Parts: sequence; structure tokens; C-alpha cells
Amino acid sequence: PAAGQITADMIDTLSKKSFPLCMQHLHQTLKREHHLKHGGRMQYGLFLKGIGVSLEEAMKFWKSEFMKLIDGDKFDKQYSYNIRHNYGKEGKRADYTPYSCMKIIMSNAPGPGDTHGCPFRHFDPELLKQKLKSNGLGKDALEEVIATTKKGHYQVACSKYFEYIHGGIALDSDIQTFQHPNQYFEESQKRVSG
Ligand code: SF4
Repeated sequence: PAAGQITADMIDTLSKKSFPLCMQHLHQTLKREHHLKHGGRMQYGLFLKGIGVSLEEAMKFWKSEFMKLIDGDKFDKQYSYNIRHNYGKEGKRADYTPYSCMKIIMSNAPGPGDTHGCPFRHFDPELLKQKLKSNGLGKDALEEVIATTKKGHYQVACSKYFEYIHGGIALDSDIQTFQHPNQYFEESQKRVSG
């Protein structure tokens, strides 16, 4: 789908096919708990904006999840401001850009109960293994990705993971290693849709 044409009801399917682990984890947590803490809402919200979800669709998406726990009034009061803010409609009206891998890896490390961050950097190794396995990585691939993570090459690990789950085809030489979750998404969509 072209930018600006991603509707709220398409996000779930896209999350399974084309989201990097960091965003897939946020998406799954949101679906399960109908809530995300502030750090997660920022990281995920800006990513969604980056893939082309309009403000209107973003509002619909967040509201439908949160309203499984709280009523619409409370949502409007507590959360809608932030979402509009991400789209530059409140406060300084700046156009906030989605976070890069570097920013996610290096700043604002997740505390207990937080779901933002980079799984290759911030997950417990056992949890990361489980996650990779359940996303279809075989034994050798799994070991290679984990070994790369242990060396502290998180973005390289993420890129290898991408290659494995996209049919083993290497990334273009002008990319080599992902610098941005939205770049991951775009590359995945190129492969999935054409
Ligand atoms: Fe997300 Fe970047 Fe980490 Fe990959 S390397 S999981 S895209 S933050």
C-alpha cells in the first residue's frame, strides 16, 4: 500500500509480515493488554506515522484498542493529545520523526513493564530466542542471530533476521544493515508486494 493509504484495520496483518521485531512486540503487547506505556506509544506511534498511517486512522487504531479497557471519554482526555502531538497538531506543532535504530538502542532504556526498545538489545536472551523461534527461524539461523547479538551488533542481528525470514535473500548492498525500523518495513514491503 502507498503511504497515506494504510488504514487501521490493515495494521495487524502488516505487523505479522513486515514489522521489525521492536514494532511487532509493541503491537502484540497492545493487542494483548489494550494499553502501552508512554515510551511504547511514542516509539510505535511515530513508526506507524512513518509507514503512512494518517492521523485519523491512527486515532481509530489506538482508540479501538484502548477502549477495550477504558471508555472513550477517558481516552479522549488522556491519550488523544499525544497522538495529535505526534502528528504535529498540538504543542510546538513540530513534525516529529520516527525513531531511528540508534535512538531506540542508545536512549531511554526500557524499565520494568516497558515494552519499547530494541529486542536485540533489550530482551532477555531466552525471550529473544523464543521470539525468533516462534517467528520461524531454524536452529542455525537462530544461533547466528544470537551470536551477533552477543557481540553487540544489534542492527546487524536485525538485518540477518530480516534476511532469514524473507527467504534468505541478502539485503541490497546499499543498505547492508538497517538504520531505521521504517527502512525495515519498506524493504519488507518491496519483497512482499513485488
Ligand atoms: Fe527495531 Fe532497529 Fe532493533 Fe531492528 S535493530 S528491532 S529495527 S530498533
